[in-house]
Amino acid sequence: MNWSELYWHRITPLHVILWPLSLFFIILLAFKRLLFRLDVLHSVKLPVPIIVIDSITVGDAGKTSLVILLIKSLKTFGLHPGIISRGYSENYGSPLPVTISSKPSVVGNKALLMAYLSKGICPIWIGHDRVSVAQALLTAHPECNALICDDGLQDLRLHRDLEIVMIDNSKLSFGNGLIFPAGPLRDTLSRLNQVDAVVVNEKSSKLSINTGNHVKTFYLRPGNEYFINLLNSNYRAKIPTFRNKFIHVVTDINHSQDFLDELKYLKLNIKSHSVINDYQFTKENIQCPPDAEIILMREKDAVKCLDFANEKFWVLHEEIAIDIGLREIILKKLREKFMDPKLLDILVCPLCKGPLVYKRNEKELICKPDRLAFPIRDGIPVMLEEEARILSVEEEI
Ligand SMILES: [Zn+2]
Repeated sequence: MNWSELYWHRITPLHVILWPLSLFFIILLAFKRLLFRLDVLHSVKLPVPIIVIDSITVGDAGKTSLVILLIKSLKTFGLHPGIISRGYSENYGSPLPVTISSKPSVVGNKALLMAYLSKGICPIWIGHDRVSVAQALLTAHPECNALICDDGLQDLRLHRDLEIVMIDNSKLSFGNGLIFPAGPLRDTLSRLNQVDAVVVNEKSSKLSINTGNHVKTFYLRPGNEYFINLLNSNYRAKIPTFRNKFIHVVTDINHSQDFLDELKYLKLNIKSHSVINDYQFTKENIQCPPDAEIILMREKDAVKCLDFANEKFWVLHEEIAIDIGLREIILKKLREKFMDPKLLDILVCPLCKGPLVYKRNEKELICKPDRLAFPIRDGIPVMLEEEARILSVEEEI
């Protein structure tokens, strides 16, 4: 256990001192929620459905993997999703796109990891204000017809259509059961009853979590593990192929033991390793024995080395899978959203940004100036120029 885990799992005099702050935090949260419910504060409705994925505790809880999995899943259904996040860097200000060439110091490690894992299949934008970030992404990518918001369960200013909460089941994730800052919870556990789905990260699951009777619970299951070359993700290697190689492991200080334990479990013989601080993943700091054949890292650390890595850099990748039911819930909700005539009113043409005419019988959205008909397939508008039908000269609009 690192120091933060120790802190979240204990109750010490410091926790007692901080408890009134936690109480204040939860009252403030409830008050804010009330103001939104009474329409004193207004949430901003965007022209595409928003899916919020968050954890109820501090930390990631495996959320990044779920975001990537859902993006890939939505793509297979012909959707064009985008990801918005606040990013965790010192420099989050105005909305900013993230690619694997972005600097970790500018966009933050987490956003960079998402860019690396998603392999450019969807746009990722970060920034301080989620509404502005979503608007900026949609302006730059008008083909996007769904947004996944990483975090933001409590940011009610952004109207959402679906809330998914991720729970890490591996390390007694609710800690001492107290609300932040005295404990790791960012909201009361009763909040779980109000969301659309709870996803339990089942990696080394030991607990059964009571998520109430009203919430659908799904399980994120670990799958195969293998190595991926950092510079060329098409190069993959099975675990046994590295068992006789000289592996040098580089980890950050907080996850060193966990990673080494995992490698030991995979029967890998680690001859040398170095432990460095989170912000010290630079070319100068990553020194390894000259005869090392493999430099092995966690994906989270390795993305910080993309601009100086060589072919010896490899990462350990674990596939994940989720019950098909979660995808069904999401698709059902998206279809409902697209059935809403108000939404069809605010959808605009991706080319001229002008209004569209909804033809119910033809299941099409027409742009008069461009003479294009965008199809509505399976209840979901496909806002792509190459998918649109060109209206013939004689066709009436
Ligand atoms: Zn148009």
